Amino acid sequence: MDALGSFTQAKPNAGHIMLGELSSMGILKALVTQNIDDLEHRAGVKEVIQLHGSVYKMRCSKCEEVQDLSEQTAAEVLEKLKKCETRKDLIELAHEYAHCPKCGAWSRPDIVLFGEEINKDDFYRAVELARASDVMLVLGTSGVVYPAALIPGYARKAGQPSSKSTPRTAKSARSATSRSALPAPRLCP
Ligand SMILES: [Zn+2]
Repeated sequence: MDALGSFTQAKPNAGHIMLGELSSMGILKALVTQNIDDLEHRAGVKEVIQLHGSVYKMRCSKCEEVQDLSEQTAAEVLEKLKKCETRKDLIELAHEYAHCPKCGAWSRPDIVLFGEEINKDDFYRAVELARASDVMLVLGTSGVVYPAALIPGYARKAGQPSSKSTPRTAKSARSATSRSALPAPRLCP
């Protein structure tokens, strides 16, 4: 419950806003993220590949239909969750928000939990973009969570320069053409 509250209260930072502006200018073609908070979308980035899904989406456990959950709906669910006192209250809340509009089966948050596989189509799309990129920026990651940590390697193999803002000791920083230890928002003008 507290986690959902932090998602609904989070706002794009200077780093997200810079990326949104680069996207609007046509310089940033796509963004690949493991974040599930949608802040890149909210900052205006046009193409976002969310390898670990989004807390603002529900996915049907039966037919795989994906349903968008607006910020307003997420806030509503949080408020109602806070008022739930019994198991019956929780079941009623689930009936209200966790049903697939297409087939009626239970829906679940469209996020990748520990031990689950990421969406293969999303991963292959990210690899394809990395191979085709002119430059790759790798921001705000220690680069130790796989398979996402493999993606900069595809750009490097394709001969593309890459710039990373990660701790210098991070494994992913070693392969960068240029690097900075500053967090992404501090790199913004
Ligand atoms: Zn369904």
